[in-house]
Amino acid sequence: MPPHSPPRFLPGCPPDPATLTDAFSHALVAWFRAVARDFPWRRGKDAYAVWISEVMLQQTTTTTVIPYFERFMREYPNLHSLASANDEAVLRMWEGLGYYRRCRALLAAARQLVGLGHGNVPDDPELLGSLPGMGEYTRNAVLSQAFGRAVPIIEANSRRVLARVFGLEDDASRPPCSRWLWDAAARLVPAEDSGAYNQALMELGSLVCTPAKPSCLVCPVRRWCRAAAAGMADRVPLKAPRPAITKVSSVGLALRSGGAWFLRQCPPGGRREGLWEFPHLAIGEDEPPLEKARAFLVELAPQGAELRPAGRHDHSVTRYRVSIHLFAGELDSMARVSSCRWVAPDDMEALPMSAPHRRIWKHLEAGG
Ligand code: SF4
Repeated sequence: MPPHSPPRFLPGCPPDPATLTDAFSHALVAWFRAVARDFPWRRGKDAYAVWISEVMLQQTTTTTVIPYFERFMREYPNLHSLASANDEAVLRMWEGLGYYRRCRALLAAARQLVGLGHGNVPDDPELLGSLPGMGEYTRNAVLSQAFGRAVPIIEANSRRVLARVFGLEDDASRPPCSRWLWDAAARLVPAEDSGAYNQALMELGSLVCTPAKPSCLVCPVRRWCRAAAAGMADRVPLKAPRPAITKVSSVGLALRSGGAWFLRQCPPGGRREGLWEFPHLAIGEDEPPLEKARAFLVELAPQGAELRPAGRHDHSVTRYRVSIHLFAGELDSMARVSSCRWVAPDDMEALPMSAPHRRIWKHLEAGG
C-alpha cells in the first residue's frame, strides 16, 4: 500500500463520526466506571501523577509500571522534587523500564516547568506541547484526566477500538489512517467526563477489544461497531508488517582491578545516554571474538591482561538481537580512559546501568 494513500474502509464505512451520538460515550464511560482496574495513578487527578504514569506507560505494560510508579512517586512526589533530583539517581530508578529517552525528557521538562515558576504541571496546552518528550497523546491524556479538557487521545488500544468501530480495513498506524483516527477521536470526545472517556477507550482495547480475539459479545459499544457487524472484528485493522530482525554481535570486557569494575558511560545522543555499561565493541558476524576483544583491550588499557571467556549474553532491543561475547580480565592498575570509571562493588547498585549489563554484572558477581 503506498504510504500516503487514503485510509481504506470496509464496504459502507466509515460512518460519519457525528452519527455516533452521546450514547456512545455514555455507554463507554458507564462500562468503565463499572469495571475499571484500580491502578495507583487512577486514585486521584493530580496532573503530575498522571503525567508520570502516562510517560511510564508508553511502550510498557501496566503490570510492569505499577511498582516503578509507586517507587518513583515515593522518591519524587512532586514537580519540585523531580526537578532538583540527581540525573543518575532518576535514571537508576528508571532502570529496567527501558526507553530511557522518556526519563531524560521527563527530567528536562520538569526542570523547564520549575524554571518557569510552576509548582505543578499546568493546565496549559501550548506550554505542555512545547515540553521535551510531550507528544500529542501524553499532553492530551494529562489535559483530559487532570483538568477535564475535551481533547482526544490515540494510542495502541484506543486506535484499535476506533479502527474497528469505524471499519478501518487498513494498517491503522499508517500516517493517513492515524490522522483520520485522531480527527474522528476529536469529534467523539465528550465535553463532560473526557478523562474517564479517554481511559475507557484504552481500557476497552486492553480488556475487551483485544488484538487477536475481541470479546464482542460483552462489548459496551458493539451496537456502533462496523467491524463486528461485518464479522471482521478479529481481522481489522490490518497488522503493520513486522520489521525484519537484525542480528548484532559485539565483544564486551569485564575488567577488574583491586575489586573495582571498569565501566563506560553511554554517550550523549544514543538511546542509553547516561547509563553505565561494560565496555563493548560491535564486531562482524565472522570476526573472531577473542582476537577482537584483545585488540579492544589494548585500546583501553595498553598494559593488557589475560582474558578469559565469560559467556555469551543475548538480549533484544526493538528489532535487534544482540549477542555480547564477554571476556573477563584482571588489570594491575586502573587505566584512565575518558567516559570510563572504576566502580567499587558497593557502589554498583546505585549506578544506573542498562538492564542487559546489570544482568551481566549479577552473573559475574555470582561467579559466572
Ligand atoms: S464490538 Fe468487538 S470489535 Fe467492536 S469495539 Fe467491541 S470488542 Fe472491539
